[in-house]
Amino acid sequence: MFLEFFESKGHLAMKSFSLVPHNDNSLLLINSGMAPLKPYFTGQEIPPRNRMTTCQKCIRTGDIENVGKTARHGTFFEMLGNFSFGDYFKTEAIQWSWEFLTEVVGLEADRLYPSIYLEDDEAFEIWNKVIGIAPERIFRLGKEDNFWEHGAGPCGPCSEIYYDRGEKYGCGEAGCTVGCECDRYMEVWNNVFTQFENDGHGNYVELKQKNIDTGMGLERLAVVVQEVDSIFDIDTVKALLNRVAELAHTEYKKDINVDVSLRLITDHVRSCTFMISDGIMPSNEGRGYVLRRLLRRAARHGRLLGIEGKFLADLSQTVIELSKDGYPELEEKNAMILKVLVQEEDKFNKTIDQGLAILSDLEDDMRSRNETVLTGNEAFKLYDTYGFPLDLTLEILEEKNFGVDKEGFKAAMQKQRETARNARKTSNYMGADVTVYQSIDPTLSTEFVGYQNLICTSAI
Ligand code: ATP
Ligand code: MG
Ligand code: MG
Ligand code: MG
Repeated sequence: MFLEFFESKGHLAMKSFSLVPHNDNSLLLINSGMAPLKPYFTGQEIPPRNRMTTCQKCIRTGDIENVGKTARHGTFFEMLGNFSFGDYFKTEAIQWSWEFLTEVVGLEADRLYPSIYLEDDEAFEIWNKVIGIAPERIFRLGKEDNFWEHGAGPCGPCSEIYYDRGEKYGCGEAGCTVGCECDRYMEVWNNVFTQFENDGHGNYVELKQKNIDTGMGLERLAVVVQEVDSIFDIDTVKALLNRVAELAHTEYKKDINVDVSLRLITDHVRSCTFMISDGIMPSNEGRGYVLRRLLRRAARHGRLLGIEGKFLADLSQTVIELSKDGYPELEEKNAMILKVLVQEEDKFNKTIDQGLAILSDLEDDMRSRNETVLTGNEAFKLYDTYGFPLDLTLEILEEKNFGVDKEGFKAAMQKQRETARNARKTSNYMGADVTVYQSIDPTLSTEFVGYQNLICTSAI
């Protein structure tokens, strides 16, 4: 509906771009609809049309702590967006967002609240005069919420649209209103008006080419439309969550801690499935580390729920079934996605129980010595021998009010690298110890028997 609506307003609808940024080292993973379109905003490249619309798959690891705890955050979500490259501006963007929400989707206007940037009187006038929203329903928020800026370069004020989900979702605090961190007034849509250039010294000059960049979480819109509690209760995502509960032989909404694990696994499996389908492989750095961390975090929460053995590939198959119509790459890479998950989970399963047991002993040790911080060496051993990403160790310990000496961890890692480097220096062929070769009796000869025998049965 969203894409068709904006097509009817002259936009070119395009498929989601990959989660892996193209020619952009500033970003590990695509985290918004505008991220893959940056060259069009900066004028580096000419867009196929100056109005575009997409439904973009996104990953936000910055929200990892919120996942499972708030109603509205996933590390994976789909962002609907409409974009103008030097074409229409504030009035049309605001009018169309309002028209879409109230006329196409049919949301009650009385439950919607716009917010604007403190000093953006132009946006205020549009919401008030053109749309007809009473001044007391328009919230003026500060830079942290409503000004989009990344260092020097194009930037500008935002106008967000919040939906009041009712008192039962509120924190109950006296000042709870638009902008409160609780889940009552849920931000559904953000309209960014890129109208200034920041010269890097805080001087703002009006841009000649003004742009519109908007983003609305598809899952959040579905929460509102389907009138459910969270992004984990919307039809598609719920089907996956039900499967997690089934595998864990448990029920959703009976125990708060169980629910956090169910939601977290649901979210992380979505992230991992989409990341692998875009060619990301588990590793110890960069995007691969994000994948490994999410995957191992999900595996650990599976343990907390009492799931035995591998379960991630089973869940991933459900993600693929649920999302393949929108994302055909999931079906094309089906076999590969499952294979990567099985291999990585297998690898971690071999060490996870041992690692968790060791960590639990280390906790007892710290408790008995009245210490609160795990040494860097111990954390490194868990990483190196048992495959525990530092963030995972940290998270498990934080749940019990312990910390980790991160500097010590880095030092231990550095030390191991140096040892490896020195070992390479004493050998001269790709890290192999040539002294072994040199010590072989040179008068011995060899005969290749591989064509007749697959297994060497006798010494030559
Ligand atoms: P919030 O304040 O709720 O964390 P945000 O201001 O960080 O949201 P934006 O950066 O403005 O979000 O992103 C645009 C839209 O994308 C949001 O209005 C929301 O609908 C959606 N969105 C953002 N982060 C998430 C997330 N972690 N999970 C699901 N949807 C999200
Ligand atoms: Mg946020
Ligand atoms: Mg916000
Ligand atoms: Mg926002």
